[in-house]
Amino acid sequence: MISFAEARALALAHAAPLGTEEVTLAQLLGRHLAEPIVASFDMPLFDNSAMDGYGVKTADVAETTEERPARLTLQGVVRAGDAVTPELAAGSAVKLLTGAMIPPGVEAVVMSEFTEEREGAVLVTSPVKPGENIRCKGEEYHEGDIALPAGARATPPVIGLLATFGYASARVHGRPRVAVLVTGSELVSPGEPREEFQIYDSNSAALDSALAALGITGRTVTRVSDETAPLRAALAEALGSADVVLAAGGVSVGEYDLVKDVCAELGVETRFWQVKMKPAKPVYFGTHAQGEREQLVFGLPGNPVAVLVAFHEFVKPALLKMMGAAEVGPMLVPAIVYAKLKKKRGRREFVRGLAWAEEGRLCVKATKGQGSHMLGGMAAANCLIHLPPEAEVVAEGERVEIEFISWEQ
Ligand code: AMP
Ligand code: MG
Repeated sequence: MISFAEARALALAHAAPLGTEEVTLAQLLGRHLAEPIVASFDMPLFDNSAMDGYGVKTADVAETTEERPARLTLQGVVRAGDAVTPELAAGSAVKLLTGAMIPPGVEAVVMSEFTEEREGAVLVTSPVKPGENIRCKGEEYHEGDIALPAGARATPPVIGLLATFGYASARVHGRPRVAVLVTGSELVSPGEPREEFQIYDSNSAALDSALAALGITGRTVTRVSDETAPLRAALAEALGSADVVLAAGGVSVGEYDLVKDVCAELGVETRFWQVKMKPAKPVYFGTHAQGEREQLVFGLPGNPVAVLVAFHEFVKPALLKMMGAAEVGPMLVPAIVYAKLKKKRGRREFVRGLAWAEEGRLCVKATKGQGSHMLGGMAAANCLIHLPPEAEVVAEGERVEIEFISWEQ
């Protein structure tokens, strides 16, 4: 049995970024950039007004006060989008709206709050420093700067930044095709009538939505009984088309836990089986050669919480790496334990937790229902408390590391 850290590293080592494609901004959300975003020009593009106000020469308003305002001739108006205007003359002001290109000769912008327009003139009641209320060309980026590195996830501001630089599309990594095989002769689909000895299949819906949350569109879900022939057929079909296969259930040590054997029959090489962790101890990982690439096969223990913890800790980072993500987590942050936690030595435990901020620090408690069959305890959780192998008892008030549960990234 290997440690969680070793298992995770192994899974990631076999997950290679997929090829790239060019997609439009409208298709970009959640994808990962295959190339850095390079500033195609200076940003801001040109000096422009940060405020609605009046462009002036600073010397013309240097002595001004509320009682003795400077009186300047109004030379005209420039709005955002107006073309270049004539040079500002001494003793004059030009009305500027936010985003307006600064006319030549303007040294600063006086906010309209400190002005009054009267009969073709502007009264200015406050002095300004050179450059005040002017957003300068290139103050954020210079042409050629790396605005964002490769691997960045396309979030709304990232997509906005690309548009700012005039890019209508971007090169991103592909998304893996994922085949989910849910095993279990006891399972019935939600919405169907159920015999008293049957249970509803929750893993199909949970895994399908976990994949959808990562933006994976090429996904199939197939349910198979705990029999070798149908499982072999379903797995062979999955290996015919998918980059990643997720088999849920049937990876323990029972007589009907057939996933590992069927994988071996079909040429999947076992990379690990059984990890010193709780839940999801029987988790399996194998690879299948497919030309230059390797297909990944995960066997996720069938208990509904184990399935999702194993997905979150192994599958999600592997999928993100394939999609070109620079960051695959986990990001662990310290939190103070609200009530004592106990565990067995020698394995990493993932306690489903609820974290909240109190008096400037993060507190965390276990949710109700910590059995690996108790999905409610995970549904109510916003984090996983990572209890390291050496820990046995964590007293109230002690510090632990938590990982916020995120299905998106
Ligand atoms: P297994 O890993 O197949 O031994 O399953 C472990 C436990 O999880 C058993 O109690 C199963 O009935 C349950 N289980 C397995 N698959 C599912 C599923 N798709 N939906 C709900 N429970 C499941
Ligand atoms: Mg089963």
